[in-house]
Amino acid sequence: MARGVELNTESLKNMMPGRTPTVLVVDDIPENLDILIENFRDEDIEILVALHGKDALRLVKEHKPDLVLLDIMMPGLSGYEVCKQLKANPELSDIPIIFITAMDEMDDEAFGLSLGAIDYITKPFSVPILKARVRNHLELKMKTDLLAKLACLDGLTGIPNRRHFDEMLKKEWSRGIRNGKPMSLIMIDVDYFKNYNDTYGHGQGDVCLQKVVSVFQTLLKRSSDVLARYGGEEFVVVLPETNGEQALSIAEQLRIGVAEQDILHSHSDAAPYLSVSIGCATMQPSSESESAHLLELADKYLYEAKKQGRNRVISESAIP
Ligand code: GH3
Ligand code: MG
Ligand code: MG
Repeated sequence: MARGVELNTESLKNMMPGRTPTVLVVDDIPENLDILIENFRDEDIEILVALHGKDALRLVKEHKPDLVLLDIMMPGLSGYEVCKQLKANPELSDIPIIFITAMDEMDDEAFGLSLGAIDYITKPFSVPILKARVRNHLELKMKTDLLAKLACLDGLTGIPNRRHFDEMLKKEWSRGIRNGKPMSLIMIDVDYFKNYNDTYGHGQGDVCLQKVVSVFQTLLKRSSDVLARYGGEEFVVVLPETNGEQALSIAEQLRIGVAEQDILHSHSDAAPYLSVSIGCATMQPSSESESAHLLELADKYLYEAKKQGRNRVISESAIP
C-alpha cells in the first residue's frame, strides 16, 4: 500500500497560524480507530477519538473539531443519527463530516450525503485517497474559517466591524434579558476629522484611527466589552452588565485617553489636539424593547455632545 503519502499540513498551518487542525474519528471498533490513528500519526493534526455516537456528540460540542470521520453502523446512536443532530445545531452544522463505512450501496451513499455529509468513503479504504480527501476538506474548512473571521473584522484597525457589532449587540441584548442586568453602549466620533485629513493627509488620518483604537483597547479591560468600528471615524463599545454610572466613567476614560495622546490637530475648533465626542446610553434589556433603541439613544447623546462643543461625554441613564 502507498504509505508515507504526506498530508502536507504546511499550507493549512499557513492559513491559520498557531492553529492545529483537529479531526474527530468515530468508530465502535477499536481496531478501526487504531488504523486511522496510525495513518495520521505523523501529520500535524490533533486526533480525537470516540467509540460511540453519544461520546462523539459530546466531543464535537467540547472541541469543535475541523472534521469528523464518522462510522455509520454503531450500537446506540448510529452515524446517521449523529450527523443529523450535528447538522440540526446551528453552532455545529458547519463542521464537515465524512462518513467512513462498510455500507457500500449507492443508496447508502446518497442517503449519507443527503444528511449533509461532505463526503462518503467506503471500507476498505485506500490510505492515500483517504488522506487526500481529509487534506482537501481540512483545507476548505480552514479557508472558510479564515473568510468568516475576516468578514467580521475591520481591515484598517483589526477590530470587529459593523456587521459583527450588530450581531454582538443582539446577542448581548438577549443575554441582558436573561440575566436582568443593565447594559450600556458608548458611541464615539472623532472631532473635526475631515479637517484632520485635509491638514495632515489621509494616510496620517489612517494612522490616527489606528492609534485611537489602540488607546481604547488598552483602556477597555473586560473581555466581555466589545469595541467595534461603526463606520468611518465612528466607534462603538458594548458594555454588558454595566450601569449608567460605570459606563459614564469608562466613556470619560476613553475621551481622556485620546486627549492625552496629544495628537496635534491645528484645524480643530474643539481643542488644539485630536479629540473625541461620546454619547453614552444605558438600558435594562427587556423583550418589550429593542437593542436598536439603545443605539439610537447613544447616537442622540453623541449628537448632543457635538452640539455642546465636542470633546465631551453626554449620557443619561435610562434607568432611574
Ligand atoms: P465632526 O466633528 O462633526 O464629527 O466633524 P468630522 O469632520 O469628523 O465629520 P465628517 O462626518 O464631516 O467627516 C468624517 C471624516 O472621516 C471624513 C472622512 O474622510 C474621514 N474618514 C472616514 N473613514 C476614514 C478612514 O478610514 N481613514 C481616514 N483617514 N479618514 C476617514
Ligand atoms: Mg462621523
Ligand atoms: Mg467626526
